This record gives sequence, structure tokens and C-alpha cells, in this order.
Amino acid sequence: MKLLIEGEWRESSSGLMQDKINPSTGEKMAEFPLATKDDVGMAISAAADAFENWYYAASKERGRILFKASLLIEGRRKELEDILISENGKPSLEAKEEVDGVIDQIKYYSGFERKISGDLLEGPGSEEKLFLHKVPYGVVVALTPWNFPAAMVARKLTPALLTGNTVVLKPSSDTPLSAEWIVRRFTEAGIPNGVLNLVTGKGSEIGDYIVSHKKVSLVSMTGSTETGQRIMKNASANMAKLILELGGKAPFIVWKDADIKNAIKTLLWAKFWNAGQSCIAAERLYVHSDIYSNFINKLQHALSKMKVGDPRTSDMGPLINKGALNNMKEIVQDSVSNGGKVIFGGEQPELKGKFSKGFFFEPTIIENSDQKSRLFQEEIFGPVIGSTSVSDIEEAFEKANDSKYGLASYLFTNDNRIIMDSFDKIRFGELYVNMPGPEASNGYHTGFRLTGQAGEGSTHGIEEYLKIKNIYVNYSRKDLEIETVREEILKPSQG
Ligand code: NAP
Repeated sequence: MKLLIEGEWRESSSGLMQDKINPSTGEKMAEFPLATKDDVGMAISAAADAFENWYYAASKERGRILFKASLLIEGRRKELEDILISENGKPSLEAKEEVDGVIDQIKYYSGFERKISGDLLEGPGSEEKLFLHKVPYGVVVALTPWNFPAAMVARKLTPALLTGNTVVLKPSSDTPLSAEWIVRRFTEAGIPNGVLNLVTGKGSEIGDYIVSHKKVSLVSMTGSTETGQRIMKNASANMAKLILELGGKAPFIVWKDADIKNAIKTLLWAKFWNAGQSCIAAERLYVHSDIYSNFINKLQHALSKMKVGDPRTSDMGPLINKGALNNMKEIVQDSVSNGGKVIFGGEQPELKGKFSKGFFFEPTIIENSDQKSRLFQEEIFGPVIGSTSVSDIEEAFEKANDSKYGLASYLFTNDNRIIMDSFDKIRFGELYVNMPGPEASNGYHTGFRLTGQAGEGSTHGIEEYLKIKNIYVNYSRKDLEIETVREEILKPSQG
């Protein structure tokens, strides 16, 4: 794979490459260039130089190119699905769903081509008008995570480009290949040289440089809260606008009158989709005490049928890398030594052949009533869930809100009063009532607390990439003599 700088696919100027490991086998599957600061600087300058022409292009033309990119992706979608399966370890069905999401988002956003509106207001005086004019920021840096590597790239590139910004994309070092594949389709669709640039390399080495660069006006990052906080400090050097989509710790409340079958089916998705490596993953299970045993028995039964292994033929694939696998082992050990009880899974499964060295972990349930335990407070980001019973809905709401994160939450009940109460009482950016996610393109994906700031999706998400300029116009036909004007303006103030 290569870097894309000013329309040219290039090696890193240092020539250094990094191995990309297939998480299902633990073996090297490709290598990618480690961009130097010089490469990053060139990419940012190329984006800055390309900005004016791209911004001045008609939005209809920008929309046309982006829509064409969605068609090119659709036509070759199987290639992207295959990359996602091998690069990320997603089961085939999930890879297919992610590519559906990529195409949907690009089509959705490119449809805004002539729909961005400003305001025309009365000015302060007669024959004066005030225009609130929405303009692009300039150079956008897009930093993406590995868990939905294609969808996150599409969700950042399309609104940024549609609104007339130019972009430097730096994808996760765990998933550079899907990013390169998508960028190639965008360029084939006609994105002009310099408007979209791709640099790969370790965030720990080039990240601080890229976000604090003086030509960067907006940083849009999806990733961990820790990295988001670091970016916030570094971006302050240039007062870059921030869109930060960070960690989650979704509560999953099942009330005594809930449709248990629906709740279990949704939980299997909400917890074990992408092996639990999702920002909206259910991480804390609060079940009404009257149905707790029944619910857990049914859940254990469903999990016993879940096949873990080869992502092409299994329900759940591996974790992204060895570090993530070790984290799961450590979380289970820590939970057990702090009063937790493993009631399902808890181990690395023994797989045969080439998958024996993959980073797989069993679907796991750990019971613990300690709300302050790490299991209930820290983002797990794997196929492990903490569970406990609750008997009062106010207690359930209180425990759900007791988290430093505030992205997604789930509620299962048929009690309309509880549902209506939850609209105000559950303090999360997303609440799914009796249904699974993920977020829709026309929803505004955002979170409370340490989940970050701003959001993505919907008109609101597009407008994050636009700045409002105020233009005051006097169109008076009065032929004012220069002396009169001066007299008017310089007239000493009364009183
Ligand atoms: P991460 O380690 O924070 O990395 C995210 C991106 O930031 C990667 O491209 C990374 O590059 C880069 N980066 C790392 N250090 C940087 C620095 N100092 N300056 C600038 N960029 C830097 O997150 P991740 O492990 O890829 O993703 C998992 C996290 O993402 C979880 O916490 C999850 O909840 C969150 N997430 C949130 C949402 C949401 O919508 N709220 C969606 C998906 C995921 P390298 O890979 O090279 O380090």
C-alpha cells in the first residue's frame, strides 16, 4: 500500500514500512508505509493549496463526484468486504453490513449537494441586510479507528468533502488497507489532486504533529477518550475545531415486563457484534430481579450456540490484536479477584489449524453487584459483559447514568411510563428502546460526558464541517456626500 499526497501514490520518504497482522491467524498479511513528519507536512500543504478551487467548485459538482464514488464502491463491494474480513476479523455478514453502511452514508451525504442553506436577515438599519453564510473550514484532518474502519472513513470523508473542505486522512494502524481501498475509489470518481490525501503511520509518532499543524482548521477523530483528550490539548495550538467521537459503556436495562426473546436477540447483537469492539456495545446488563435467573439462563443457552472462529464461517471473529486479547484475559482475572463470578465463557478458545494463533476470546458473562467495579466502570471493548439484577427503575436509571461515558444506552420494557421517563432520565446521546442499533445516517451520533463533543450524521453532522460567516450589507441608493457620512459617523455621542 502507499501514501496519497497531492494526487500521487508514494512510498514514505523514509522508506520505512510496518507489518499488518491478520487478527484471525496472527500472521503478517501486508505492510504499510510509515509516513514521516515531512510526508505529513506535504499532505497538509497539498490540502491547503487545493482548498480554494475545491471550495469554489459548485456543490453540485462535489456531490456528483461523491455519489459516483458510492457507485464505484457498490460495483466492487466484495473486495472491500474481503479486506474487512481479513484486516479486522469481522464475520462475513458484518463485513457485508458495514459495506452497506459505507454506501448508504456516501449516498446520504452526497444528496445534500444543494441543500445547505444559510439565513438572510434584516440588517441593523434600513436598507441593510445580514447574511449568515456557511463556509467550509479549510483543511480537515480525519483520524479513524479500527473497529469500523470503512464506515468511519466514509462518515468523515463525505461530509467534509461535500461541504468544500479538503482532507488529510490518517486511518488506524490496525486497519490501513480498507482506508486505502476507499480513497482509491474516491480518486477514481474524480476527486482532484490534493483535495484528499492519505497518510499512514503510528498516531503516537505523527499524531501530535498532524493535529497541531498551523494549516489545519478542523480535526475530526473517532477513537478512545484518552487519545481524544490528547488531541484536544494539541489542537489548541491552532484553535482547530474538534469533532470527537470517543468511548462508550452502554447500559442494557431489561425490565420485568419486557419481551425477553427480543431483549436476548438484541443483546446478542449489541454485545457480540464485532466481538464487542463497538462504541455502542452493551457493556453493563441490569435485569429486573423477578426475571433475572430466567433471562440469564436463556442468554447462556443462546451463547452456547454461538460459534467463535474463522470469520468467514463463524458468528464471532477475533479481537483486533494481541494487546486486545491480553486485555480481555486481564479484565476477567481482575473481575474475579474483585468479587465477580464468571457464569459463561472467560477463556481463549482452543481453535485448530491456522486459527490457533488468532486473537479469539469466548463470549463471556461476569456477575458482580459492585457498581463501582472496573467491570461496570471501564470500557471493556471486547466480548465480556458485566451483569447484575435491579428491582427499582430509579435505581436502574441511576446506575445506567453512573458512567464517565455517555454514548449509547438500551432499554427493554413495554411500560409506556418507564419509556417516557427514560427520555429525560437516561443521560446518553443515544437511547435504543426495544430495538438494536446501530445509528442511522440521518441520526445525530453524539455522546455525553467523556464520549466527546460535536457529532456525526444528519444535517447537524454535515453542519459541523461548516463555519458561519456574517456578512452585513448596506444597499442604500442614497448618494451620500463623503462629508455627510463623516459628519454622521464622527458626530459626538449624545450624553
Ligand atoms: P485510538 O487508539 O484512540 O486511535 C484512534 C485514531 O487516533 C487512530 O487513527 C490512531 O492512530 C490515532 N491516534 C493515536 N494517537 C494519536 C495522537 N497522539 N494524535 C492523533 N491521533 C492519534 O482508538 P482505537 O483503539 O483505534 O478505537 C477504539 C476506541 O474508539 C474505543 O474507545 C471506542 O469506543 C472508540 N470509538 C468511538 C466511536 C464513537 O462514535 N463514539 C466509534 C468507534 C470507536 P494509530 O492507530 O496509529 O495509533
